[in-house]
Amino acid sequence: MNFDLLVDFFNRLERQGPGSAGHTKLALDLSGLLTRNGPLKVADIGCGTGASALILAKELEAEIFAVDLFDKFLTSLKNTAEKHDLSEKIETLSCSMDALPFAQSSLDAIWSEGAIYNMGFEKGISYFSQFLKPGGILAVSEITWLTNHQPEEIKQYWTKNYPEMATASRKINQLEEQGYRLKGYFPLPKQCWVNQYYDPMQNQMSEFLHIYQTEEAEEFIKEQRKEIEFYRKFHPYYSYGFYIAEKVDE
Ligand code: SAH
Repeated sequence: MNFDLLVDFFNRLERQGPGSAGHTKLALDLSGLLTRNGPLKVADIGCGTGASALILAKELEAEIFAVDLFDKFLTSLKNTAEKHDLSEKIETLSCSMDALPFAQSSLDAIWSEGAIYNMGFEKGISYFSQFLKPGGILAVSEITWLTNHQPEEIKQYWTKNYPEMATASRKINQLEEQGYRLKGYFPLPKQCWVNQYYDPMQNQMSEFLHIYQTEEAEEFIKEQRKEIEFYRKFHPYYSYGFYIAEKVDE
C-alpha cells in the first residue's frame, strides 16, 4: 500500500474514522475526567487530524499529547489547534503506538478513537496500561460485532480484515482480564459512520481521482467504496464500540 496516497486522501477529512463530537463528549462524561482536578496528562493515540484531541483540549484542564505515525496528519492538527486557540494545550508526537515515549504510570488518561486495531485491541490495552496512573482512564473505540451471529458474507469480510473482531462482551472481558474496571460502553450509531465519516469521504473521491490519475488511486478508492457498500448492507451487525475503563488501583 502506498501510504502517501492513503494519508493524502484521509488528510482531506476532519476525521479518519467513525465518531462524532457528541460521542467523544459522551465518553468524556462516562470517564469522570471532567471532574478530576487538573492539570491532567492525556495521550490521544492514533489521533489523525485531531477529531478527538481538539475536543479533549477544549473540555479538559489538561496537556494533550497527540500521537500519530504520520506527520501530515499532525501538521493538519496543529493548524486547526492554532485556529481554535488550543495550541498551548496540545503537543504532537510523531511515533508508533507500540513505541510510546511516556514514563511508566505518568498519564491520567489514554484516549484512542478508531486506531487501536493497528496494534490489535488485546495487545493495545495491555501495552497502554503501564503508562496509566492507577485509577487512570482508558477510552477506546474499537470495531465490534453487535450480534452473536452474522451473515456469512460480512463475517468473512471482517475475519479476513481484522481477526480480532468480536462482540462487546468479549472485549469487556479482555479489559477486565487486563486489570481494568469498566466505566461505560456504547456502540456508535449509524450517523457516526454515514454523516460524520462516509459522506465527507465520498465528497472527496472525485477530486482525489482527478488529481491522482493512477491505477493505484483508483484501486484505493474502489476499496473504500466496497467498505461503504458493506456498511450500507450490514450495519445492523457491526459498529465501533466505545469502551471507557479505569486502571484498577492495585
Ligand atoms: N482518531 C482519529 C483517526 C482514526 S484513523 C479519528 O478518530 O478521526 C487511525 C489513525 O491511526 C490514523 O491517523 C493513522 O495514521 C494512525 N495510525 C496507524 N498506525 C499507527 C501506529 N502504528 N502508530 C500510531 N498511529 C497509527
